Amino acid sequence: MAKLKKAFFCSNCGYEASKWQGKCPACNQWNTFTEEIISKQKSSSTSFVAKAESHPNKLVEVNSEEKPRIILKDAELNRLMGGGIMPGSVVLLGGEPGIGKSTLLLQLLLQFHQEVLYVSGEESSLQIKDRASRISSTIPNTFYISAETDIGQIVKYANELKPKLLVIDSIQTLQHELIDSVPGSISQIRACCGELIKLAKTTDIPIFVIGHITKDGQIAGPKLLEHMVDVVLQFEGDHQYFLRLLRGVKNRFGNTNEIALYEMQQGGLNPVANPGEVFISGKDENLSGTATGIILEGVRPLLIESQALVSSAVYGTPQRSATGFDVKRLNMLLAVLEKRCGFKLGAKDVFLNIAGGFKINDTGSDLAVVMAILSSAADISIPAKTAFAAEIGLTGEVRPVTRLNQRISEAAKLGYKQLFVSKYAKNIDGDLPQSIEVVPISQINEAVARLFA
Ligand SMILES: [Zn+2]
Repeated sequence: MAKLKKAFFCSNCGYEASKWQGKCPACNQWNTFTEEIISKQKSSSTSFVAKAESHPNKLVEVNSEEKPRIILKDAELNRLMGGGIMPGSVVLLGGEPGIGKSTLLLQLLLQFHQEVLYVSGEESSLQIKDRASRISSTIPNTFYISAETDIGQIVKYANELKPKLLVIDSIQTLQHELIDSVPGSISQIRACCGELIKLAKTTDIPIFVIGHITKDGQIAGPKLLEHMVDVVLQFEGDHQYFLRLLRGVKNRFGNTNEIALYEMQQGGLNPVANPGEVFISGKDENLSGTATGIILEGVRPLLIESQALVSSAVYGTPQRSATGFDVKRLNMLLAVLEKRCGFKLGAKDVFLNIAGGFKINDTGSDLAVVMAILSSAADISIPAKTAFAAEIGLTGEVRPVTRLNQRISEAAKLGYKQLFVSKYAKNIDGDLPQSIEVVPISQINEAVARLFA
């Protein structure tokens, strides 16, 4: 019997070492090494994908024409990937379990009326068929399904069938026969993803790979996978809401920072082409502690609702927690309110939630977050149809945001009556919608005086 080969892998970046180490030399993370048995036998050729003929070419003779992209039925997804999917590219779709990743890709294949292959290690073929019939009344007879988890077999099927699209659900279920560790382990994921990339590059078949992540993003796979694949899409949303957000995190063939929105319905996921106000909860307007901000995701302005709860701390150290918002930034904003603006929040618990299970990256939401907190602290509600679009600086000044005109237009379109912005914004042109009053301020106190007086 061949000797078992063991190695240690960094769960963050996939770095391989022969000994356990406290700190990863590649990505500098601590306590990320886990031991895995990697090979049952020593083998020099461990790949299932046949090597393509490749000789050095003259650079001038290299074909500079891009291969035409494959256009999918889902216009939102096409836009997100920069105008369809590139032949031979590998797209990782990451997200928490149960968020709807399988539904999204199943739907994509059902709408694509050419040979497609769906490989599911998560569910049986019958379960997939059940799901498919709920999404679409007719199942095209070009739709192939396989419950295979062995990567060697999957490569073989793909080579025989030559599907126009291939979906792997999920990378955590795949197994490479020469690697002895369990499916979902770092060495398995790395080896199987490597095979899929080779398969895509040699056959030009575009591959969608589903990767699960946990709430805290702890599981090994996806972080490491992100470096290997061409495109990374992240599916976000809250189980309580019907809305799902697909975010472009990495794209070798186009822009990132774009988003697409979907509505989860009985028959699958419906793209929401005009998102506008979808993240507003339709609250009772007399409630204190909520404020609407206009943020920009990619090129799209979105109205989002910040909900805050401020209460006296029961225990010695006040609690600060945030869902959908960076907790460090929340602490910074609270420190600014305390030190620069004179609001005594030091002994208060502060909880912040962004409605809709959405994660905000745009600092243009700062003013809305701060106003939600102050509204809760004073227990005075902010008047209806009022919105905010400004960043807060460390000195407490209200700072301008990018593409302000676009944000103003969106707020006006959705019937908002007043919008607080920075006085220092230079990019407001004279051509503003008449229906909305733009209120320029330089300090948070000015908004407080106007709204809570
Ligand atoms: Zn590492």
